[in-house]
Amino acid sequence: MKTAVPPNLYSFTRAQIVDLLAGWGYSTFHVARVWEMLYKNRLRADLRADLQADLALRTIAPMPTAVISLNSSDGLTRKYLLRLPDGETVETVLMYFKGRATACVSSQVGCAMGCVFCATGQMGFRRHLSAGEIVTQALFVDALLRREGSHLRNVVFMGMGEPLHNYDATLTAVSILTDQKGLSLAPKHITISTVGLVPAIRRLADDPQPVMLAISLHGATDAERQALVPLAVRWPLDDLIAACHYYIKKRRRRIFFEWALIAGENDTPEHAHTLGELLAGMDAHVNLIPLNPTGGYDGTPTDATTVAAFQNILTRCNLPSTVRQRRGIDIAAGCGQLAINN
Ligand code: SAH
Ligand code: SF4
Repeated sequence: MKTAVPPNLYSFTRAQIVDLLAGWGYSTFHVARVWEMLYKNRLRADLRADLQADLALRTIAPMPTAVISLNSSDGLTRKYLLRLPDGETVETVLMYFKGRATACVSSQVGCAMGCVFCATGQMGFRRHLSAGEIVTQALFVDALLRREGSHLRNVVFMGMGEPLHNYDATLTAVSILTDQKGLSLAPKHITISTVGLVPAIRRLADDPQPVMLAISLHGATDAERQALVPLAVRWPLDDLIAACHYYIKKRRRRIFFEWALIAGENDTPEHAHTLGELLAGMDAHVNLIPLNPTGGYDGTPTDATTVAAFQNILTRCNLPSTVRQRRGIDIAAGCGQLAINN
């Protein structure tokens, strides 16, 4: 018979640890100590002996171990293959920008959404990550940054998997990451990127935690989007755009739209105009990402001149945009390149 694995302390919010310890007969005084042990010093020795024993017997608190670490040649991107307790692995990326560092975390092993140009989609879905498995990716990166005299301030859910398909674990991880007695990240420094799960976008708009939202769009007509993003058959653009308007109205925050530029597929002036019309009047910002190579898709990235022309049209449509700096391509750590090939 399979024995049940004890719960992972890193999946608990502070309020849940209050309940857990209360159930074992400990006062709230001990909660602060446990939380400090998890998020500040990792020292169990500071806890009372009976509490140490209870935690050791009834819970686990595993940190992932890095089985592969890769540094990009420009030194600005690092990718880690992290092994989880059950032997599955995920990739986590640390990106250095001017004056800040960002952790790109995974929310699932693989992904069920099947976007044709994405290496994670190409490997299929293996399992959801728990909140603790998401939180400890950020803690892993924070520990690296602390050794360099800084600490983690930005997290993007742009690694492997679709975070809104794993909604509860993702939002529990957000509340742990933003806990002011822990890592204390600002919600506006956390971005959730989604392929466009419409009901989950509406749910996120109503969630008390005001994180930033990015939508992977890639096509501005249903037919074009569906050819790249199979999920778009389930949630057509009308529904998606209505959910975006709802989000902006509720949150009063702009939405970022991601657009992988693929030569000849979605990068012509006409595509740019259609995109401009689709997002007209919306508080939106478009991130243009020239396609990164993946094993299962033979499209090619848009060249620099065509990217500039595309961006000019968006500007004329009053739609702000940024061309994503290509980074980490030499270690396959770019957008859409994360996968495990075992
Ligand atoms: N599942 C979420 C989170 C992953 S974020 C989502 O799709 O939004 C990864 C981002 O990289 C997404 O915007 C995705 O559409 C984009 N992407 C995937 N494959 C890519 C590729 N080959 N080149 C450029 N961007 C890609
Ligand atoms: Fe999944 Fe996002 Fe990749 Fe699509 S782009 S397959 S949703 S990880």
